[in-house]
Amino acid sequence: MRIHIISDMEGVAGIANSTQTNAGEPLYEEGRKLYTEEINAAIRGAFSAGATEVCVMDHHGAGGGFSFNSLVADLLDPRCEYVVQEEWTSYTGFLEQGCDACLLVGMHAMAGTSDGVLNHTVSGMAWQNLWFNDTLVGETGINAAFVGTFGAPVALVTGDDASCREATALLGDGVVTVPVKHGIGTRGARMIPPVRARELIEGGAARALADLSSLQPYDPGKPSEIKVEFKNTTDPAKLANRPGVEQLEPRTIVSRADDWWTAWRQFFF
Ligand SMILES: [Zn+2]
Repeated sequence: MRIHIISDMEGVAGIANSTQTNAGEPLYEEGRKLYTEEINAAIRGAFSAGATEVCVMDHHGAGGGFSFNSLVADLLDPRCEYVVQEEWTSYTGFLEQGCDACLLVGMHAMAGTSDGVLNHTVSGMAWQNLWFNDTLVGETGINAAFVGTFGAPVALVTGDDASCREATALLGDGVVTVPVKHGIGTRGARMIPPVRARELIEGGAARALADLSSLQPYDPGKPSEIKVEFKNTTDPAKLANRPGVEQLEPRTIVSRADDWWTAWRQFFF
């Protein structure tokens, strides 16, 4: 059983504000350790459920050389392999070789979720809303469509209550969720201490992988229409001339294609 762990930092237990998630901030080093140990918990759960190969891919944009590179390599479970990529969703090698399921660890809710700790979609500075064929989605939706493109279902989502709720609404009851904190606005949370959160995640990962028969890869639909409402007019103006992309309004673009993956690549990279 080959398992892809795709992870973000904002949904990790012990993390409540951006001083813990932005490279160069005083608490970032602590945040990285909390993040890495939570990934290790998911790795342990995966191997205990029968995984033979686990590949971890960090998609947290911490800034500079730490973007998609926030894991503390020295602390990672030696049984896994891990990916550092220049752009989120650019590495597809593990998926292309065949992947049985994906575990999403440390997720945050989509932009505009009032109880979502550090809620945003892709870029808190630049993006307001994202739709796949008229369904409002966040980063769980992006990751699910990304791995779904290659036939892999999402089996587990961990993060705050809001991100777990979002995952169930989008992917159905079959996905196991492990909430590790309850958001109090954007930069506060009532949390389960990291040590216990890791136990819950390890157990959740094992449970999620024990039976994959009820899970389907997520496909937002064919043909595919991806709409992005930006917070500015600069990005839409730049993207407007790409093939398959149309600027609907000054701050909004739509990318249309036969399938989600093509529509995504038309504007995202
Ligand atoms: Zn992040």
